[in-house]
Amino acid sequence: MRLMIDPKEREKRLEICESCEFNDKRRPKLSPVYLDVCLKCGCMIEAKARVWGSRCPIGKWDFEDALHVKLAQDILREKNENN
Ligand code: SF4
Repeated sequence: MRLMIDPKEREKRLEICESCEFNDKRRPKLSPVYLDVCLKCGCMIEAKARVWGSRCPIGKWDFEDALHVKLAQDILREKNENN
């Protein structure tokens, strides 16, 4: 099963988050691995942006595209065939 999105899609998401007013970029960086947090959902943005099926809580990402719908259908079909 596919869990990570295409790197190009991840970059699109991160670009949107980068300019978002809910990106908590103002927090001091506590360590080299500190990741920016979305103030709307509390997720670490870098991690959230990598995962297939994650969503922007206010709809700034529009990834209900045909590829994702097809992948969801494939996963459901595979699950049904194995039951
Ligand atoms: S996930 Fe959505 S609300 Fe959160 S920082 Fe990104 S664009 Fe903004």
